[in-house]
Amino acid sequence: MANIFTKIINGEIPCYKVAETDEFLAFLDINPNAKGHTLCIPKVEVDKIFDLDKETYGSLMEFSRTVAIAIKKVIPCKRVGMTVIGLEVPHAHVHLIPLNSMDDARFISKEKLTPEEFETTAKAIASYVEL
Ligand code: 5GP
Repeated sequence: MANIFTKIINGEIPCYKVAETDEFLAFLDINPNAKGHTLCIPKVEVDKIFDLDKETYGSLMEFSRTVAIAIKKVIPCKRVGMTVIGLEVPHAHVHLIPLNSMDDARFISKEKLTPEEFETTAKAIASYVEL
């Protein structure tokens, strides 16, 4: 059965899209650590990020960098952090998280956003993504 991120890729589940290529998709995390928290995923259905082939892994990092640069232009923060966990969703993904303090990286305190805020944030970041 397809995992939840593959369902997002296939349009079966909605997302707040930030960027898309033939190989990758970036969208806002639905339970963000901070406003602008974005997930970058390969379209290929591979669970663990280090099981991606070398080329796809490298391209995912390049794609994530492009998205992170756009996030930094839109979201006031000290820096954009990058984390890989994967304990919840078995589909390789990179977390890009606007950081103002170490707490933003801890996945403990969460930011509540309205659907309108998600939409506005995704569109703003998308407008700065230079693929
Ligand atoms: P991890 O697998 O890295 O531990 O965490 C998975 C992340 O995916 C979590 O931060 C969670 O909020 C996010 N997530 C889980 N399900 C969905 C979903 O259906 N849509 C979106 N946009 N994010 C999700």
